[in-house]
Amino acid sequence: MSDMDYRDSDNQESENKEKEYEDVCFICRRPESKAGKMFHLPNNICVCDDCMHKTMDAVSQYDYQGMLNNPAVFNMLNNQFDNRQQTPKADVLEEQAEEEEKEKKIPKGFPNVSFINLSDFMNDGIPKRQKIKKKSPDEKVKPIIDIKSIPAPHKIKAQLDQYVIGQEYAKKVISVAVYNHYKRVATGTMDEIEIEKSNILMIGPTGSGKTYLVKTLAKLLDVPLAIADATSLTEAGYIGDDIESVVSKLLAAADNDVDKAEQGIIFIDEIDKIAKKKNTTSRDVSGESVQQGMLKLLEGAEVEVPVGANSKNAMVPLATVNTRNILFICGGAFPDLEEIIKQRLRKQTSIGFTAELKDKWDKEKNILSKVTVEDIRNFGMIPEFIGRLPVVCTLEGLNRDMLVRILKEPKNAILKQYQKLLELDEVKLEFTDDALEAIAEKAMKKDTGARALRSIIEEFMLDIMYEIPKDDNIGRVTITRAYIEGTGGPVIDIRSNGYMLGDMEKLNQIESKD
Ligand code: ADP
Repeated sequence: MSDMDYRDSDNQESENKEKEYEDVCFICRRPESKAGKMFHLPNNICVCDDCMHKTMDAVSQYDYQGMLNNPAVFNMLNNQFDNRQQTPKADVLEEQAEEEEKEKKIPKGFPNVSFINLSDFMNDGIPKRQKIKKKSPDEKVKPIIDIKSIPAPHKIKAQLDQYVIGQEYAKKVISVAVYNHYKRVATGTMDEIEIEKSNILMIGPTGSGKTYLVKTLAKLLDVPLAIADATSLTEAGYIGDDIESVVSKLLAAADNDVDKAEQGIIFIDEIDKIAKKKNTTSRDVSGESVQQGMLKLLEGAEVEVPVGANSKNAMVPLATVNTRNILFICGGAFPDLEEIIKQRLRKQTSIGFTAELKDKWDKEKNILSKVTVEDIRNFGMIPEFIGRLPVVCTLEGLNRDMLVRILKEPKNAILKQYQKLLELDEVKLEFTDDALEAIAEKAMKKDTGARALRSIIEEFMLDIMYEIPKDDNIGRVTITRAYIEGTGGPVIDIRSNGYMLGDMEKLNQIESKD
């Protein structure tokens, strides 16, 4: 195929894609399916018939800058309205002449008001994709997820295992919850046994893989995912993002396809930041009010969301999205929750014959796994909110062994990434077990979970990535604990006739011993 053909087929494709979307009236925001045929104006502005008429009525009332007195303009507008009417009718012109007489007495246009040319600011400031995917009325909405194709929980978990290390309990809980959720979506049971929504609350320290788990999940289920941050949300009308903006993010992730978005996943991170503020006298617009505002989203409601923007305003079209089948996963570190749990446990154990030592719980490592709804409520989440997140799962803080495994085991492990990079230079990169442990220990000190690993590795790999390509003879680099700790250098092996010199030396040593 020639270049031209490719371009043609590209155009064809984008045209076809464009056909799947419908126009939205620039003024009343109704889509073509509701408002009827649109007038197409320059700069991709569409206006529906009703709005065009209303606008013209308004304009003719004030005689916008004497425009209607100009027969050419008048003709043009008339033709826009009615294509059959090619020339202005005689009686219209007569009426117009009478009007003209009257109008001569009235000053023209608005005093002290200048009119803006819309096209001047059309090119920037306005979101490009303002169209909503068409829903054809006779086409039956086919579920994106087929009940037979939903992977069983153990299969979901097995796939998660390839990426997420440890967190066995969380992976199990999530696999089952997601399986049930999509079974509910696929069957659409609305008979007498209605399956309730299984929104999930994930509690775990920072960098323990909460976001990573959800991202992996969405990828393997192939559903749209929106990740929002609860800290930026405020009650509608205050500075910050409206609560519904999370749904509009999902809509964008689903390519403005409402049906697809309605079966997606929304992950709201830092959910602990919207806990009820203690001891405040002012209105809690970013805490309790946000929780209140999210109730109806979590449960399932029809919400009007802005398309292509975070807040509703006159310039963005709205789409109606039903959140009934959207899976909400909320995650947070809940920093003081451990203390709350310990207090409760201490109270329980300090009464009666079975009273145990009070500091027993201080040593307990995985205290978060003992969380109850009561504890979360004491933390500051309102009962209605917790009630709508029936599945609670906790993630453990990562220990040294887990960090070492994270370095090398996941499908896209950091070490594998660097090895691949150096492989392109035909250099083998190896890490001694000792070195991996040293990296993990360094990361533990930073207290940001697995997130610290990357920055540590980047730091010491810089020199290696800079120096190695200089010398073509280098065949292998081995990173040792000494290099990580800054007390030595990496072991570098020179290539010789397809063998590493280091290997040859070792072989010689062994042979000479024999
Ligand atoms: P948070 O719990 O704060 O949301 P993230 O999920 O963003 O943490 O984790 C940060 C990064 O650390 C991820 O991108 C991922 O690469 C890595 N990571 C964290 N936990 C794990 C884990 N259990 N298994 C594999 N990688 C992990």
